[in-house]
Amino acid sequence: MAPVTVKKICCIGAGYVGGPTCAVIALRCPHIQVTIVDLNQARIDAWNSADFAIPIYEPGLVDVVKQARGHNLFFSTDVDRAIQEADLIFVSVNTPTKKSGVGAGFAADLNYVESATRRIAAVATSSKIVVEKSTVPCRTAESMRTILEANSKAGCRFDILSNPEFLAEGTAIQDLFSPDRVLIGSLQTEEGKSACQSLAAVYANWVPKERILTVGLWSSELSKLAANAMLAQRISSINALSAICEATGANIDEVAHAVGRDSRVGPKFLRASVGFGGSCFQKDILNLVYLSESLHLPEVAAYWRQVVTMNEYQKRRFSKTVVDTLFNTITGKNIAVLGFAFKADTGDTRESPAITLVRDFLQERARVTIYDPQVEAAQIWLDLSEAMPNVPLEQIQKQVTLAPTALEASKNSEAVVIATEWNEFREIDWTAIYNTMEKPAFVFDGRMILNADELRKIGFKVTTIGRGERL
Ligand code: NAD
Repeated sequence: MAPVTVKKICCIGAGYVGGPTCAVIALRCPHIQVTIVDLNQARIDAWNSADFAIPIYEPGLVDVVKQARGHNLFFSTDVDRAIQEADLIFVSVNTPTKKSGVGAGFAADLNYVESATRRIAAVATSSKIVVEKSTVPCRTAESMRTILEANSKAGCRFDILSNPEFLAEGTAIQDLFSPDRVLIGSLQTEEGKSACQSLAAVYANWVPKERILTVGLWSSELSKLAANAMLAQRISSINALSAICEATGANIDEVAHAVGRDSRVGPKFLRASVGFGGSCFQKDILNLVYLSESLHLPEVAAYWRQVVTMNEYQKRRFSKTVVDTLFNTITGKNIAVLGFAFKADTGDTRESPAITLVRDFLQERARVTIYDPQVEAAQIWLDLSEAMPNVPLEQIQKQVTLAPTALEASKNSEAVVIATEWNEFREIDWTAIYNTMEKPAFVFDGRMILNADELRKIGFKVTTIGRGERL
């Protein structure tokens, strides 16, 4: 069976993955028409806005959209039409952790994947290659195939591929232009392999062939969960060691450097911090925990669960350090939280450690002022409301102020807490900040981005993570 040459792509889901991924495909494949669709009208309007006020902050993304939009890149809410026209459809919808019911708190909520799949089956009038872009539990492709085959029209055949996305928010465009690997999973049938070649040919327009890995469907699905689980495990491992460093007088930077020099370990992703956030790490590990439990592998489930437990511990430990250091009470004290996004170079706040820190400070009856260069005010209020469902928003807003700059946020505060590693926090005038603060003035560097010695020379009392040093 000869591979289909892809001429039209539809991407269902115009979010953090679907938007950048398919914008880059459009840019790199000018001969392919790419239509990104979403049910969320406001999101599509933003992607189409005349002034390119696109809904996602991601370095380099606006340039990509500017070059491709209107040529071969389109954003639309007309899901049915885009499905009908496409030869290949990416399903890039959200797969959050289930909030209630069976598997609540662990299992992926596949409602959006199923709805999108049913829509494809309902409206497709010709054969399609359907590609799982969303991160899904192992063997989801089987469910999708069952739904598609049971509902398809005569003459329509569907080949399912898994093509998980490995981009990291904040470096998405760089990651998409130059990926470590592109993973494509297919059934090992003649039709499956042929569909795999069709998608591989799309990526081959800019990705070197040796970086395009083709594997079985279930390996591909599991690899995505495994990759995120192992990255998160690395963070939890270094954070667990940071606690030992603090208790012993060892220095986590020195330990990480020494450990990372072993070529089997490598130096990346060994930075101690207040903990990981983002929409993926925790969700995907919990997904793996749920999968392991479903497969009657309790020890395996317990192993991966510990990575998340450690992350929760690290966040709590940091909040406690702030309270302990500020003389065991922060009631009525002003605390400036710099950064609210889960990491630098994104406006995404999903599972951001900043949310936990602010919640803890508010529960200790502190007053908090937040500054983040990208996160919108409405998002902050939404996140804090969700974090404290029993506290009315008006009450939260009595305790929390949003500031337009780091300097403004720090005015009259007793402590500055770095919650996101934004570059601008490295470069701000810390002497000016010191001069506006109450004394003694404390800095808690939850991201290990500041030069503690320089800050101490200014007069700050500085607390970092994993350095067994005293104030
Ligand atoms: P997102 O919430 O930003 O975007 C998903 C979009 O899908 C939303 O705009 C939603 O309105 C839309 N949608 C849902 N159901 C739909 C339907 N039936 N028809 C049309 N549109 C629909 O999510 P995201 O961050 O882009 O993540 C998408 C998937 O990619 C998830 O499975 C996630 O785990 C995975 N992933 C995310 C990242 C990341 O860094 N965010 C990285 C790799 C993989």
